[in-house]
Amino acid sequence: MRWLLLSLIWLLLAPVAVAQDLARLNPALSKIIDQKGQVEITLTLSRPVPFRVIHLQKPPRLAVELQSTDLSGLQLLDLSRSDHVVDGAAGLVDPKTSRLVLQFDRPFVVEAVRTALPSEALRVVVALRPSSEAELAERALRQADQSKVNAAPIPSQTLSRQDGSRPLRVMLDPGHGGIDPGALAGDLTEAQLILGFAKDLQRLLQEAGMEAFLTRDGDYYVSLERRVALAQQAQADLMLSLHADAADDESASGSKAYTISEEASDRLSKLLIRRQERAAMLSGVDLTAQDDAVADVLVDLARHNTLPRSRALADAIIGGLQATVGDLHSRPRSEASFSVLKAAEVPSVLLELGFLSNPNDLERLTDPVWQGRAQQGILKALQAWAKDDAAEAVKLRR
Ligand SMILES: [Zn+2]
Repeated sequence: MRWLLLSLIWLLLAPVAVAQDLARLNPALSKIIDQKGQVEITLTLSRPVPFRVIHLQKPPRLAVELQSTDLSGLQLLDLSRSDHVVDGAAGLVDPKTSRLVLQFDRPFVVEAVRTALPSEALRVVVALRPSSEAELAERALRQADQSKVNAAPIPSQTLSRQDGSRPLRVMLDPGHGGIDPGALAGDLTEAQLILGFAKDLQRLLQEAGMEAFLTRDGDYYVSLERRVALAQQAQADLMLSLHADAADDESASGSKAYTISEEASDRLSKLLIRRQERAAMLSGVDLTAQDDAVADVLVDLARHNTLPRSRALADAIIGGLQATVGDLHSRPRSEASFSVLKAAEVPSVLLELGFLSNPNDLERLTDPVWQGRAQQGILKALQAWAKDDAAEAVKLRR
């Protein structure tokens, strides 16, 4: 049972670190290789840090979580010489923890974890042996039971609908972050670009008298479930998820606002959803994801009341951007089943500001003048929506 303990607990190799600097991975001394039917992962870090190994299933994956470690810039798949590794990602899962996730072509489980401390560095060797689906499932489930204990419940509060008598509460949700960089354009990541945009927008909304919050304020990973929970905990009047994705079709350009639908019809939404799902899967968030049939029914009921308000919000935002920047997608309004739009009581819109894959969009999206105009458009849109929405709330009350 020693392997099990090793794979479940944090290995505290150093007393509470005095050093504030983050450990770094040495790529030259790290590798992933096939060894007599097994897969062997060797990671060498600049100093000892606590770490743990997590089994994930469907698809078969292994995550190595490292505290106080910076994995930025790591090209994980470049380390791999294994024929069994089919995908991988590495990055922050919260401001102080990095995670590295490998996806395999078949189930593997941890056979042994060995550590060594060569000249103040930490070497971790994880040996994996092929297993059955059932064995991997059993190990993954045991961990999920443990993590549930620590998972914060999502409160189901009754929110008082905004009626103009108090400042509007806005949850801004910069997409991606950390282990999930989003779309890429050279050295620029969607996660970085959008975070800067969201922070500027937050300031603008606050100056206009609104209360504005962010689901993340740095380059770290936040699960889709957590983003939704944050909007609910903040009792936000609305949630605006911000993105600038890439499309295979380079001609795709302009801003586009999504509201939720059960059935995603258009091809692009399906692509975007697949990308979000890949990010969620590779970050290993399914560790805590749990669904409950009764909760689903309640969520559907609430969504039924929220959806018209979300649609009005999306229309307002597209109108605001039309008036200020004018660079809209050929179909600026669409519906998709993005998880982040599932905050049942909170009207939610996912805004694709533009496409990093389109050269004109890339130029606009990185231009501070364009950004400022787009932010003004969003501010005007939120003000207009809040006014109409409050009038409706007052009417419904009578
Ligand atoms: Zn995105």
